[in-house]
Amino acid sequence: MSHPPLPQSLHLATPLPGPRAQALDERAAASLPRALSAVTPTFAHATDRGVLEDVDGNRLIDLASGIAVTTVGGAAPRVAQAVAAQARELTHTSFTVTRYEGYVQVAERLNALAPGELPRKTALFNSGAEAVENAVKLARRHTGRPAVICLDHAFHGRTLLTMSLTAKVSPYKDGFGPFAPETYRVPGSYPFRDGLDGATAAERSLAQVDSQVGADNVAAVVIEPIQGEGGFIVPAPGFLPALQQWCHDHGAVLVVDEIQTGIARTGAWFACEDEGVVPDLVTTAKGLAGGMPLSAVTGRADIMDAVGPGSLGGTYCGNPVACAAALATLDTIEEEDLCSRARALGQTTLATLRRWQAQDPRIGEVRGRGGMLALELVDPATGRPDAALTARTAATARRNGLVLLTCGTDSNVIRLLPPLTIPDELLAQGLDILADALAGSR
Ligand SMILES: *Cc1c(COP(=O)(O)O)cnc(C)c1O
Repeated sequence: MSHPPLPQSLHLATPLPGPRAQALDERAAASLPRALSAVTPTFAHATDRGVLEDVDGNRLIDLASGIAVTTVGGAAPRVAQAVAAQARELTHTSFTVTRYEGYVQVAERLNALAPGELPRKTALFNSGAEAVENAVKLARRHTGRPAVICLDHAFHGRTLLTMSLTAKVSPYKDGFGPFAPETYRVPGSYPFRDGLDGATAAERSLAQVDSQVGADNVAAVVIEPIQGEGGFIVPAPGFLPALQQWCHDHGAVLVVDEIQTGIARTGAWFACEDEGVVPDLVTTAKGLAGGMPLSAVTGRADIMDAVGPGSLGGTYCGNPVACAAALATLDTIEEEDLCSRARALGQTTLATLRRWQAQDPRIGEVRGRGGMLALELVDPATGRPDAALTARTAATARRNGLVLLTCGTDSNVIRLLPPLTIPDELLAQGLDILADALAGSR
């Protein structure tokens, strides 16, 4: 039995939060640690393509996809069906105890999709952080070296190692140290702020690695092809290829973290394809399984085979229901050609955002690719990041019916991550609500 499709329209039956959401809010406050706050002022009941229905019957416009997860739409029909069918047959064996075909199928699909010609292999995990952790384990064992290089504005997760690789202190790291050793942060490429071309930015980063870490000590360079939580920062052309070349020249493993950018989000299966970058290892998660928890490390067979039998895994890793969801998600992306959809949606939305920018000096930069777009908000007098304006704008837009996220090391970036199945008219209406919220935030 599937949930009836939701009308693809905004509907505000009550102010947000409505009475049921308020009651849940009180129960949550009494029963959950206050760390588990949420940005949307209500509780979800159902989702469908571009719409999220709350517990009071309000229908919000989804411009977040649960942080770039429900690329194919929430509760997408094929995914829901695959999950239900799989759950009736096999919910768990633990792959290291008894194997099943779905896991192998997901691996085969990812090996075929990942950029590059070399033979590839894939290992599955649960969360993005776990995938990054395992990529680092593999890189260390393969190279026999300890150091891991990460960038300013990076986000790689919230476990000890990935939190150590993450740049922003609050809320991700504050008071949670000491952090994992042998992690080194160097500047990246942030054209809006540093004004450097890609080659120059890479020289700056790599000179620091050479002088402060030493190339011979580097196991892995971990990069996001477009930095996500750090501010949807698109590096200058040439930056990523230069890092790839350096890794190649020095025997370090290039780990491309595509957890937010990957699986069609930016208009290609992998964002690094844009500049022809071929990762040694690539991590995926968020968009991979249509809302079920699943992550992957895909990469060069020689690196993936660097560790012996039993050395990778975890009780739930590559859960059969999550694998079924992933296969349905990948089928949906292929059959609905959601990579093309992401590119088209990106072009029209960027044009709209640039029109706003031409009339509003508080919009410092409009950037992104496909279904991963952002506005960086600044104080026009000083050019400094304007976190307060960003927070006010987002709060107003949320009250007016958007599910909307901000990001950025300085919390001054509004990010757009709509499900790629959102109807054009609904997306346009969502952008109108955002434009009004920004215009009204003086
Ligand atoms: C979200 C994210 C992670 C962490 O994924 P979790 O599933 O939250 O552990 C890692 N890297 C990037 C680029 C991300 O966006």
